[in-house]
Amino acid sequence: METLAPLVDRFGRPHDYLRVSLTDRCGFRCRYCMPDEGVEWTPQDQLMTTDEILHLCRLFVRLGIKRIRLTGGEPTLRRDYMDIVHELSGLVPVQITTNGTTLVRDALALADAGLAGVNVSCDSLQRDRFADITQRDALPEVMAGIAAAQSAGLMVKVNAVVIRGFNDDEVGDFVRFAVERGIEVRFIEFMPFLGNNWKADSVVPAREIRESAHRAAALTPLPGTPSDVATDFAVEGSRAVVGFISSVTESFCSGCNRIRLTAEGKVKTCLFLPPRTSLRDLLRQGADESDIVQSIRDDLSTKWEGHPSMKSWTQRDNLSMVQIGG
Ligand code: SAM
Ligand code: SF4
Ligand code: SF4
Repeated sequence: METLAPLVDRFGRPHDYLRVSLTDRCGFRCRYCMPDEGVEWTPQDQLMTTDEILHLCRLFVRLGIKRIRLTGGEPTLRRDYMDIVHELSGLVPVQITTNGTTLVRDALALADAGLAGVNVSCDSLQRDRFADITQRDALPEVMAGIAAAQSAGLMVKVNAVVIRGFNDDEVGDFVRFAVERGIEVRFIEFMPFLGNNWKADSVVPAREIRESAHRAAALTPLPGTPSDVATDFAVEGSRAVVGFISSVTESFCSGCNRIRLTAEGKVKTCLFLPPRTSLRDLLRQGADESDIVQSIRDDLSTKWEGHPSMKSWTQRDNLSMVQIGG
């Protein structure tokens, strides 16, 4: 496979991590992600096809992408998602972010397909709260899914968005859960997106989450790399790890190595910047590979150094998270 010059933005940041949204559909309606009025699902023919996804991912790998995360919406709703995992895993490590509802069914097949890891979103360990935030009474299913993924030998991380007055009293419970299961739990600061009921005072700063976690267990910092989104700590006396993702209060844009493709195939250079060129359209128009590559480089050259302060975020014209793919 012929390699191409790697993707580097104008601030010298190499971009070697691709996140691909497979669909904007989802069976959950998490209040911090899906606008209350719902979103208009992208019509099927507007989504990238399996071939388009594979074609573009192969091209990105030639451009130096070293790992791929499949996300959404709920990526496991696509009937072809297992084939995509299988095909892409032959190229680079592939991970998936999921609400966990299909893991009981699919964990073994995912392990066979070569999946490198699964992040499961779970924001409360209390059934009523879980149902309240996701608007689906699915905690038992998700817990069984996490267990199935572990039994299948997959590397599992649990993502919990911490929201003031909703689940900020569960940090210690999540740390104990990480210890019991021997897995990593990552606490994520609540970020603003279109229609997600975000308020500055709903954000629990990572510093405060860390303090709560420290009260629950002795934590030892683990070494990281500049592109890590989470600051990880080992929980002493266990195999568990807890991580803190402080996108709002302690941003980590200086090490950003991430580029995204929306489910419609548009390049998104940052979570908080509008989508740019539709690579799907370029493919459907029969564009030359060199034009597609140039378009990706041009889009990347518009990426900013980092996101502005929280106040101005709310005024920004962005998609909802379910449309972006976290
Ligand atoms: N449906 C899958 C899931 O829930 O894992 C994948 C898509 S979801 C958009 C990806 C990640 O984004 C999830 O871990 C979710 O918790 C996170 N997320 C969604 N909205 C968020 C917000 N407002 N702030 C922080 N994280 C958010
Ligand atoms: Fe769906 Fe994931 Fe968004 Fe929840 S966070 S609504 S599961 S896409
Ligand atoms: Fe990268 Fe944008 Fe996230 Fe900053 S806010 S780390 S630039 S994706």
